[in-house]
Amino acid sequence: MPDRRADLHIHTYYSDSTMSPQNVVREAKKALLSCISITDHDTIDGVAEAVSEAKKFDIEVLAGIELSSEYGKKDVHILGYGFALKKSPLVMKLQEMQQARRERMKKMVAKLNSLGFGDIHFEDVASRTKSDAVGRLHLAQLLVEKRVVPDLDTAFSRYLGEGSPVYFSKFKQTPVEAIKLIKDSGGAAVMAHPMLTARDEIIPELVRAGLDGLEAYYPNCSMVVANYYVGLAKKYKLLITGGSDSHGAGKKNTYIGKGYVPYEHVEELKRRFHA
Ligand code: AMP
Ligand code: ZN
Ligand code: FE
Ligand code: FE
Repeated sequence: MPDRRADLHIHTYYSDSTMSPQNVVREAKKALLSCISITDHDTIDGVAEAVSEAKKFDIEVLAGIELSSEYGKKDVHILGYGFALKKSPLVMKLQEMQQARRERMKKMVAKLNSLGFGDIHFEDVASRTKSDAVGRLHLAQLLVEKRVVPDLDTAFSRYLGEGSPVYFSKFKQTPVEAIKLIKDSGGAAVMAHPMLTARDEIIPELVRAGLDGLEAYYPNCSMVVANYYVGLAKKYKLLITGGSDSHGAGKKNTYIGKGYVPYEHVEELKRRFHA
């Protein structure tokens, strides 16, 4: 089949997208995708529903995840694909990561209230996700609804961004530890959106730690940038992946299928990982 495409970076309402797994699959069909991966933050709760819905539409679903980690003060996201879903070290750690997200959100809410916003309740934030993977986007959405800020970008630039007084970190792990967790569970570890993270200098260290791939294709970045990361992936013999990072209505300027990778790269991933 010519020109088969895979969108390997999609969130659902089990983390901080507004879309159900069923809706994700239907949108993927409309976008003529052959394959998708559900990569929620610190949860796999959306995967089974997507797999089940995808059977109706002849779409392949890869199990995935997006783990947060910190290098210095910088948030580095590591995508995992094709890891064991039952009792793997990764899956057994997710509850702890989600608990850390809840505790961190309680601190962020308390900090905002102490700054005089006064009327923000943890449960109103936490109830915005169908799992326990509560995050900053949920809080940003609430701040927009309460008219504390005009839009999501302002919520992040003014209050929720790294370095802001309201910002607290999540589950403490380094990118190397996140990679190890995915690899110890039989999966492929891929550095998410390196062009956004802008820490290319750590890539050699991550490769030594077992990094398997780079997300070279990402929405709203030029072919020059994508080709640069394709070249870097080839230099280190890494997999090449790509995706939309769709969050439904939670993120502007992207949608399912806007970022994608040619299917041959999924075949390569499966050759290496039996995903
Ligand atoms: P957290 O995982 O709770 O630290 O939140 C990080 C998530 O917030 C990212 O993965 C994005 O989904 C979202 N995010 C970060 N910056 C922005 C922004 N400026 N506008 C909308 N969403 C954002
Ligand atoms: Zn997100
Ligand atoms: Fe990310
Ligand atoms: Fe993401």
